[in-house]
Amino acid sequence: MKMYSEADVDATCLTDRQVTILGYGSQGRAHALNLKDSGFNVVMGLRRDGASWAQAEADGLTVMEPGEAVKNAAIVAFLTPDMVQKSLYGAVVDNIPEGATLLFAHGFAVHFKQIEPRSDLDVVLIAPKGPGGLVRRQYEEGHGVPCLVAVHQDATGNALKLALAYASGIGGARAGVIETTFAEETETDLFGEQAVLCGGATELIVAGFETLVEAGYQPEVAYYEVMHELKLIVDLLHEGGLRKMHKFISDTAAYGDMVSGPRVVDENSRKQMKAVLEDIQDGTFARNWIAENEAGMPEFRRLMKADLEHPIEKVGAELRGRMDWLEE
Ligand code: NAD
Ligand code: MG
Repeated sequence: MKMYSEADVDATCLTDRQVTILGYGSQGRAHALNLKDSGFNVVMGLRRDGASWAQAEADGLTVMEPGEAVKNAAIVAFLTPDMVQKSLYGAVVDNIPEGATLLFAHGFAVHFKQIEPRSDLDVVLIAPKGPGGLVRRQYEEGHGVPCLVAVHQDATGNALKLALAYASGIGGARAGVIETTFAEETETDLFGEQAVLCGGATELIVAGFETLVEAGYQPEVAYYEVMHELKLIVDLLHEGGLRKMHKFISDTAAYGDMVSGPRVVDENSRKQMKAVLEDIQDGTFARNWIAENEAGMPEFRRLMKADLEHPIEKVGAELRGRMDWLEE
């Protein structure tokens, strides 16, 4: 494993040069404000009729339309949703200066060849391992969120140097920047969110809730057990791994964890995890997701509706309404 820190950064490669950021959502806003506070020359490329134009201006940033914003860029960061990066690249590519760097926070568009960058451009990845809000907050507190760095195309010979300067500007080098490839970042990121973080975790919660309610227990009690208390466990894992969790839960909980966990996540679950990974690796998932977007997202909306109409959402909203210390 190769990890870079502040000592490996030469931020002078971006002195007096422009960093253009396309998109002002979760990552875009955090990167833009952190880079500006780090002394970089930041220009936002946003749609004039979009909601974020006024917000970016109110935040003190220079804002132009994407086609204008890229004209003098040393780095163009694509921080829009993955599915709009292809059309956005097509709209601005002719205005991107020769030898500039394209930067991504997730490798999807490049890895799955939605974007096939001009050969004179450097193409890099700086992927913070956390949402934009955290990237901003950690930076303001003098820390940083760790990042991954990858180089897809090194036309100028300076791709890595520029990527690390950018990572330093958003605070990432304070926490460490691990070298990876576009393939590894894209495939592991998709797998993590599908099998464990979002898909796996929510399916586990909902299945646990249904099991208890079907067995005649009160939905309110089930909600506390399988959804509410998950945060306490995740915080322990996040801060200190399995060891810290085991230190803070009861011996009864630890014994139950070790004998029953493998009965739930069993050989079949592992087989399915592998199948999910294979769909990611061979491009099946990407093809389906791109086709779903092109069709106007009918299946996405149907599945989302089913998720949000699940009984756990109703009981959860009621109970959370009584805990005014929770942030919605
Ligand atoms: P987001 O959905 O929060 O924000 C997207 C922004 O892009 C919008 O606010 C808008 O300003 C702009 N935008 C939307 N549609 C557009 C269009 N058609 N044309 C031009 N601009 C448009 O996105 P995000 O979650 O910040 O994701 C940005 C990138 O960062 C993605 O590649 C994502 O995979 C990656 N990433 C996200 C996270 C995360 O936690 N959110 C973490 C790591 C990497
Ligand atoms: Mg789910």
